[in-house]
Amino acid sequence: MGGKYVYKEPAPLKGSEDDPFESMMARFEVASELLGLEPGVYEFLKVPEKQIIVSIPIQMDDGSVQVFEGYRVIHSSVRGPSKGGVRFGPDVNLNEVKALAAWMTWKCAVVNIPFGGAKGGVRLDPRSLTTTQLEKVTRRYTAALLDILGPESDVPAPDMNTNEQIMGWIMDTYSMHARHTVTAVVTGKPVYLGGSLGRREATGRGVMVVALRAMERLGLKPQQCRVVVQGFGNVGSVAAKLLEEQGCKVVAISDITGGYHNPKGIDVQGAIDYVREHGSLEGFNGGDRVSNEELLELDCDILVPAAKEDQITSKNADRIKAKIIVEGANGPTTAKADPILESRGVYVVPDILANAGGVTVSYFEWVQNRMGYSWTLEDVNARLARIMTESFDEVAATAEKFGVSMRLGAYILGIDRVAKTLKLRGIYA
Ligand code: NAD
Repeated sequence: MGGKYVYKEPAPLKGSEDDPFESMMARFEVASELLGLEPGVYEFLKVPEKQIIVSIPIQMDDGSVQVFEGYRVIHSSVRGPSKGGVRFGPDVNLNEVKALAAWMTWKCAVVNIPFGGAKGGVRLDPRSLTTTQLEKVTRRYTAALLDILGPESDVPAPDMNTNEQIMGWIMDTYSMHARHTVTAVVTGKPVYLGGSLGRREATGRGVMVVALRAMERLGLKPQQCRVVVQGFGNVGSVAAKLLEEQGCKVVAISDITGGYHNPKGIDVQGAIDYVREHGSLEGFNGGDRVSNEELLELDCDILVPAAKEDQITSKNADRIKAKIIVEGANGPTTAKADPILESRGVYVVPDILANAGGVTVSYFEWVQNRMGYSWTLEDVNARLARIMTESFDEVAATAEKFGVSMRLGAYILGIDRVAKTLKLRGIYA
């Protein structure tokens, strides 16, 4: 593994700008060069350890059979069991899951928890399936991955369109095959099944903690800040609520059905109640309708993209008005948008730091399951706040040391920790 990694100009994007794997690789390349990563380490870390595609045949209610495609990518198990969510969606594909798996590796290293990185997904439209059909898909997907999953090997969690109930089905299916209850095989479970208090809110809470830290850095008080949140699911709704509790004014929110803008302030709890009752924000009358594209460009101080990848691109980055972007979603900003935001002085708290609260409390859940003991909510939240604050400060210190953005600071910190572990372990052959 000797020698030093020599920077190669990143290959021109093969796909379009919005290929999340290419966006991840573009930052990995630059961080590797700045770190002077050894070529062997670079070669080792740039590819996932395993990429699995499974077919999931399901008998539908009318007796017909539909076959869905499922994925699990283990990017790295160098620092511990691989960890990463499972998402359901009509566009889920292997390339996206590959990028998300690598981000999990860097993210777990940034917050310094003993996990590697993985991600999974099933290509389906959850809105077109009944609860029973979703349960069948989840159980068959789990069964197909029995040799991969395990508390010591690979531990899934919720992501887009998956929730506590789905994690409960994963736990139950795995346990049926193991012939005993194995709670630590998955995190984000219902509290009744060994889930951690505070896990559901953990990602949004982490977003709030680092947003406060970023405001402090820029000399802003929460009471001065207007917030726009894209995506009103697990991450977006909790981040909006908690930032509002800190004194910020949430002036716009959105979901897949569109956005709502109210310069006087959105009633966030009202919006949460509305979604609980109606399933989405469609028809919410707490603000003027805006499109998701317009929402990103609204006049505000803090923008929290908390929906999906590739929302801030080279096409709209020069029109973003926010002073701070806190990336609740994974990969909401493309690599091509990074220099545009940087040149305009936008302070970006990158995804692998900003949304790491979820995996941090997933780690707490895994620890509690293995101890057979549960912590209080106060304990969970205090430990989460400490890790998020310390990680923010470590990323900021790395960014300052290398004279780079917070994004590259986070990549450098994460990659360096994985590389150091790899060097100490060596390569088994
Ligand atoms: P979710 O399914 O609970 O919510 C997603 C929200 O985004 C919904 O309101 C949906 O309507 C909206 N949305 C989907 N497509 C959209 C679009 N094109 N435009 C605007 N809104 C759209 O998912 P989540 O768990 O909140 O995850 C959101 C993001 O955060 C994802 O990128 C996910 O990978 C990331 N993330 C989630 C967690 C977690 O713990 N849940 C942890 C880290 C990162």
